[in-house]
Amino acid sequence: MPKFVYDFTEGNKDLKDLLGGKGANLAEMTNLGLPVPPGFTITAEACRHYLEHGTLPEGLAEEVNAHLAALEGAMGKKLGEPGDPLLVSVRSGAKFSMPGMMETVLNVGLNDESVHGLAAQAGDERFAWDSYRRLIQMFGKTVLDVDGDLFEDAVEDVKRARGTDDDADLTADDFKDLVDRFKAIVREQAGREFPTDPREQMDLATEAVFESWNADRAILYRRQERIPVDLGTAVNICSMVFGNMGMDSGTGVAFTRDPASGHQGIYGDYLQNAQGEDVVAGIRNTVPLTELERIDKASYDRLLEIMETLENHYLDMCDIEFTIERGKLWMLQTRVGKRTAAAAFRIACQLLDQGLIDADEAARRVTGGQLAQLMFPRFASRVDGVKKITKGMNASPGAAVGKAVFTSERAVELAERGEDVILVRRETNPDDLSGMVAAKGVLTSRGGKTSHAAVVARGMGKTCVCGAEELDVDVKAGSFTAPGGVTVSEGDVISIDGSSGDVYLGEVPVEDSPVVRYFEGELSAADGDELVTAVNRVMEHADARAAMAVRANADNAEDAARARRFGARGIGLCRTEHMFLGDRRQLVEQLILAEGDDERQAALDALEPLQKQDFEGIFEAMDGLPVTIRLIDPPLHEFLPDITELSVRVALAGDGADPKDRRLLEAVTRLHEQNPMLGLRGVRLGLVIPGLFAMQVRAIAEAAAARKAAGGDPRPEIMIPLVGAVQELEAVRDEARGILDAVRESTGVDVPALVGTMIELPRAALTAGQIAEAAEFFSFGTNDLTQTTWGFSRDDVEAAFFSRYLELGIFGVSPFETLDREGVGRLVRIAAEEGRRARPGIKLGICGEHGGDPDSVHFCHEVGLDYVSCSPFRVPVARLEAGRAAI
Ligand code: PEP
Ligand code: MG
Repeated sequence: MPKFVYDFTEGNKDLKDLLGGKGANLAEMTNLGLPVPPGFTITAEACRHYLEHGTLPEGLAEEVNAHLAALEGAMGKKLGEPGDPLLVSVRSGAKFSMPGMMETVLNVGLNDESVHGLAAQAGDERFAWDSYRRLIQMFGKTVLDVDGDLFEDAVEDVKRARGTDDDADLTADDFKDLVDRFKAIVREQAGREFPTDPREQMDLATEAVFESWNADRAILYRRQERIPVDLGTAVNICSMVFGNMGMDSGTGVAFTRDPASGHQGIYGDYLQNAQGEDVVAGIRNTVPLTELERIDKASYDRLLEIMETLENHYLDMCDIEFTIERGKLWMLQTRVGKRTAAAAFRIACQLLDQGLIDADEAARRVTGGQLAQLMFPRFASRVDGVKKITKGMNASPGAAVGKAVFTSERAVELAERGEDVILVRRETNPDDLSGMVAAKGVLTSRGGKTSHAAVVARGMGKTCVCGAEELDVDVKAGSFTAPGGVTVSEGDVISIDGSSGDVYLGEVPVEDSPVVRYFEGELSAADGDELVTAVNRVMEHADARAAMAVRANADNAEDAARARRFGARGIGLCRTEHMFLGDRRQLVEQLILAEGDDERQAALDALEPLQKQDFEGIFEAMDGLPVTIRLIDPPLHEFLPDITELSVRVALAGDGADPKDRRLLEAVTRLHEQNPMLGLRGVRLGLVIPGLFAMQVRAIAEAAAARKAAGGDPRPEIMIPLVGAVQELEAVRDEARGILDAVRESTGVDVPALVGTMIELPRAALTAGQIAEAAEFFSFGTNDLTQTTWGFSRDDVEAAFFSRYLELGIFGVSPFETLDREGVGRLVRIAAEEGRRARPGIKLGICGEHGGDPDSVHFCHEVGLDYVSCSPFRVPVARLEAGRAAI
């Protein structure tokens, strides 16, 4: 039988799968000799069993008994014992941190008798009754599903009766009164008495924590953060220490470095005479951690010592939750801290400079997703004509502009209509998650950098300004006021700067990030911008380590040039149909409507010089690097007017209809397909419309010859799309080879060109061995390959039913975003293996959207592709991930 319970002395930081992040790190700290209140962890495996079967696993109760007995032995008191009770906290703790998403119950073990024991031991009646009412409140809400507002309302009632609006003015008798009121609320709402048996409290709280894994907000958070749905949470049972035992007690959160900038120093918040949840919930305003030096120097010094120990042990920035009980410091949690993208790069390089980690590890410590965040625009540094209305804390960087909304519901509603919104709240709580997801940014008037809003926004990479205390937020009225008589109502546009904390009324223009300017070559690593220097160092190392090259999907010289500046080593996909849009649509129309060979040839002749010019520009921008040009792919009707509009026009005109319109309508009707994505496109077009592919190949060959004659080094690769059978490819390849030879002869310039194919149909993947006989390279078109493997229309499904599929956990992320390794990936593997077997050394790449997705880039590395190709702006992300994949 598996072991379901681990004492803190038994675990370690590497057991996160089993003990969750919190449990594993509590164990690690315990073993480091740090002051952790004794306790034990019930494993995530027990949770998984509970969620699957609805019952606790066999043997768990006995194990808990044994560990509780040991804990009682160590503490010298028994759980809930009337004279001197042991009290415990029951906390969730999954493998991946999900701040505030799951449940916690504190002060378990208190009842009508033990509250007296606690009062006597602490010498403080008020504290004991306050603790007891907190237990009933948390237990009622969490375990018995009682609406939390009812408890809050009761507290407000009592405060009103006492003529105060501060909890601190409440007396022991007030809390006694609240205990009675809370019990009545439980009785009425839950239809049962608040359980007074300490062990029953502990067991019910444990089950409630297990169940909170499937709370709506936890499900939503996991989807956002791509955390697997089936991990479950561990439960930590920890002996209570109290931060609410008077002014020599308190609770706080600390970071070993600034989670926003990465700089070393003392960062965190402290709240005197409070229990842990008060800080994270942002309910009362905290003081900066540096104040603790004045309040309790001994604890402060000890905390700094511990912070150093933790950094040196974890070799990374850590965040910490701690409590001081009557001058004694206790560690309640640590973990490798969440940080902003900028801090991640800075910290990685700082640790590298300190010799704590090597360059490989530095690259491991950052992600492509973080780099992408750093490439977001920022506000222009000079802001004219827009009023700055206040400044809050710079909780999560970025620049966000949108209409102010005051509830999560409105945020979701407006965002669904395509509007940009900023969610404005006094403070957020876990129920605001959907609004935070929908909003461009989050602004709160209360709470520090460790408040819920700040922690969650940073995790999501969402711009957040918190603790803007000058704002008076009135959620009911749907407005806030700022100094100087400014009132902002729902729908007014505001701009928030998550890097400076500034809040503006109106729309502030945004400008490129310094990281983009660095990639553009406008800023250099030597210019002294610490972030740019860090990014440069990591990128250089990633490039040196990468086994795959990164190319770009680009269809014009300008994009190609930008991609090259961003580090692309060629073009992996030039979609030539994009060159037929705009003014040239007319010419394509002529081609489609052509009656007879002469008319068709005339249309092709008109297109050819334009195509040649395009290719010359691209070859020049990518001189010396491979350029894969794909022959025209999409269905022809895309170049013709909309069938409904045209039909109406012709019908309305009746006998007077333009003859050209009539011909057009005829053509549109003839070409109309029910399933155009599965219809006449790609290689099929080339085989059906004589001369079309030939024109394109000639334009490529002549452009290459012209570039070479001008001293350039063009490297064309001609790619045939949507091939399903080698025979299709052979026919087009033979024609293409003939044209290449003819152009070589006519120009006297020899430019070697590869001819290859896309693998974007399951049949192509499954017959890749045959296809490789005729193809000099493969490029995996995973957009179509995903569409055809799953039978999902790439243009429709995301709107139609993906959200339901995500909810059901059929997949954790859209397969159009991250490559489906098991299905589509299997086809890629088969094709790569069979292609290599048939043609050793065949060049393999990917040009579907997945080429810029971090997880998919790692997959491509595993399969041994030669390159990934993605949109120019994603090139740095793909470079970084290609390097990280090789480490
Ligand atoms: C693909 O199908 O993956 C691809 C790159 O081609 P397109 O997106 O143009 O169909
Ligand atoms: Mg395709």
